[in-house]
Amino acid sequence: MVVTGCYAQTNPSAVAAIPGVDVVLGTRDRHELPALLADLRKRVRPLVRVGDVFDERPRPVVPLREFAPGYTRAFVKVQDGCQHRCSFCIVPFARGASRSQPLPIVVEQVQSLVAAGYGEIVLTGVDLGHYGGDLAPRLSLAALVRRLLEIPGLRRLRLSSILPAYFTPELIETIAAEPRVCRHLHVPLQSGADRVLRAMRRPYNARLYRELIERLGATLPDLGLGTDVITGFPGEGAEDFAATEALLEALPFTYLHVFSYSDRRGTEAARLPASRVPPAEVRRRTARLRRLGAARSLAFRRAQMGRALEVLVLEQGEAGTLVGLTDNYLEVAFAGPDALRRAFTRVRITGLDGERLQGDRIDDAAEG
Ligand code: SF4
Repeated sequence: MVVTGCYAQTNPSAVAAIPGVDVVLGTRDRHELPALLADLRKRVRPLVRVGDVFDERPRPVVPLREFAPGYTRAFVKVQDGCQHRCSFCIVPFARGASRSQPLPIVVEQVQSLVAAGYGEIVLTGVDLGHYGGDLAPRLSLAALVRRLLEIPGLRRLRLSSILPAYFTPELIETIAAEPRVCRHLHVPLQSGADRVLRAMRRPYNARLYRELIERLGATLPDLGLGTDVITGFPGEGAEDFAATEALLEALPFTYLHVFSYSDRRGTEAARLPASRVPPAEVRRRTARLRRLGAARSLAFRRAQMGRALEVLVLEQGEAGTLVGLTDNYLEVAFAGPDALRRAFTRVRITGLDGERLQGDRIDDAAEG
C-alpha cells in the first residue's frame, strides 16, 4: 500500500504508523514510485520518502500518455504548488511554491493525448490561474490556452478551478472567443464577507468577486458556473454568513460546493484566537447553502429542456445506455450503440432523472 498526497507530505510519521502501509511518498517524490516498487521486497517497510517541497531544484517531468480504462477525458496537470497562503489551507506546505510545466512539454503531452483519442482535455493545477508566472519568459494561462487550441484534433478544453484575480480581460476574451473552451468555470469564493475573506487571507474582496462573476455570466451564455464556500470559519458571525448567502443568491451560480470549516493542524486558521462557531450552527449554515446549491443545479438542468446539446460520450453506463457530458458540465443519459463511447454526438434534452438529464440522440453517425 502506497500513500501519497498532502497528508503523506505534511505528516509522514502518522501515515507510516498505519498498519499495512508499505510506502509513504512525498508530493515531490512521486516520480520515484516505479523505481521504489521495483525493489520494494528487498527494503525495510514502511519506506518513507518525503522530500522538502520548498526545494527549488527542477523536478523531473513524467508525461502522461494514457489513463486507466474508463477515462474518456484526460486530466493534464500543468501547474503545481501555490503562491497564496490562505489561512485555512495546508496545501502550500504540502506542495510548495507555484511551478508550471514548460509550454513545450504541455503541448507535447496534449498532442499525444488528443492523438490517443481523448475528446476532452482538462487543464488542472493547484493554482492554475498562476500558470506561467514562474516561467522564463513569463507566460499566462490565456497564452497557454491559445497555444493548445492550435493543436489539430483538439475538440474540447476544460479549465478547472481558477481564483478570481487571474481572470484578466485577456483570459475572459480568450474563453469567450473560442467555443472549444468549455462553458464551465469554477471560481472559488469561500466567503462573501470581507472581514472573513481578510481573516482567510483570500486575495480579493466581495465587490471584486461580484463584478467578475457578473461579467462572466454576461459574457458567456449558458455557463456552468460553480464555486466553493466554507461555512463556520473561526469568528464567522451571523451577519457574515448572511453576506455570503446574499452574494450567492445574487450571482448566477449553477452549482455550489459547500464545506464545513474544521481546524486543520499546521494552518494559521487553526491557531486563530477567534471563537469557533458551534458545530450545530455550522451544520445549519452548510445545510442552508447546500439547499441553495441543489435548487440552482436543478434550475440549470431544467433550463436545458428541449435544447440540442453536443455531448462527449463517457465510458461508463450500461449496455445500450450511454452517458454524455455537455460542455457546461451536465451529464445526459440517452440510448445509443456502445460504438459511440468516447465520441461526440448531439442529444435533444427531453427530461430529468435525478442528477442526470435524459435525452434522445439526434445524430445518425458519431462525429469524429
Ligand atoms: S486555498 Fe487554494 S489559493 Fe489558498 S493557499 Fe490553498 S491552494 Fe492556495
